[in-house]
Amino acid sequence: MNAPLLAVDDLWVRYRVASGDVPAVQGVSFRLERGASLGLAGESGCGKSTTANAILRLLPPGTRTEGSIRLDGEEVLTMRPGRLRAVRWTTGAIVFQGALHALNPVRRVGHQIAEPMLLHRTAPGSRAADARARELLEQVGLPGDRARSYPHQLSGGQRQRVLIAMALACDPDLLIADEPTTALDVMVQAQVLELLAGLRHDRGLSMIFITHDLSVLTDVCDELAVMYAGRIVEDGDAHDVFATPQHPYTRGLAAAFPTIGDPASRLAPSGLGGDPPDPSDLPVGCAFHPRCALARDECRDGVPELRPAGPDRSAACILVEAP
Ligand code: ADP
Ligand code: MG
Repeated sequence: MNAPLLAVDDLWVRYRVASGDVPAVQGVSFRLERGASLGLAGESGCGKSTTANAILRLLPPGTRTEGSIRLDGEEVLTMRPGRLRAVRWTTGAIVFQGALHALNPVRRVGHQIAEPMLLHRTAPGSRAADARARELLEQVGLPGDRARSYPHQLSGGQRQRVLIAMALACDPDLLIADEPTTALDVMVQAQVLELLAGLRHDRGLSMIFITHDLSVLTDVCDELAVMYAGRIVEDGDAHDVFATPQHPYTRGLAAAFPTIGDPASRLAPSGLGGDPPDPSDLPVGCAFHPRCALARDECRDGVPELRPAGPDRSAACILVEAP
């Protein structure tokens, strides 16, 4: 099949809150080929997790989504609940942001990895599921007998590996990893990234990898999409985007190298002043213009569209010259 594994077209997501709607994602489009990996970058609050969760329709009740998300040829946004439950885990699986504490503290991790296999009947019985759980633990670099451990007996890096093993339990085509390394120290982070890159290679897995740290993405991703205020403002080959960022926002992010060993610096990139705007109260025109050193009057005239900015590159900035 030549169709991409995932095709997102003009996706809009609006959360419903007491004060009205929060348009957290505003017209996002991208494609992911089979076996490819895409990085979603951007500061906190730019809509990365919302985009990721929309792909498996894991948004709170009442949230409105528009546009199209075709996963393995099927439209996710209109999928029936039964089919959706089957697609989660077996076609696409997600390692959630901040999930390190989400493991059940009173159940052995092996059982927790076996659970989705039993639920989705991808293992014939509990003995087979337990055996497979041990295999998966070995694939993510842990001894198989760690299956008998409880979460509190594992380090943060080991728990993250358990979560990855769990996501792989039903052999999905797509793995979404939402900031899987943010809570880990730099050494462990590097190991988890290496693990993900290896799994992708060995299993032909497609991957969406989310982080606010651009430099991390170039190691594990072919393509990069940078989000700001709910939109993709730049995309292209990961190394190109990082080496020669075109959008002033991407330049700010790329300049914001974290200080090794200082967790706080990873959360507050230094290359940019201020914070991203609240999606329900966006500046007129280009949402980035109030923080942009290059802004001029025309930047207030309208929301810039993504336009070609080089070979297989696009940027949404009126100052970026078309090649
Ligand atoms: P990121 O993952 O890039 O940090 P998110 O997708 O989590 O961004 O959030 C995008 C925007 O949506 C933020 O302004 C956030 O406050 C808002 N948001 C996220 N979840 C909810 C929710 N459940 N209800 C209302 N607003 C939300
Ligand atoms: Mg997030």
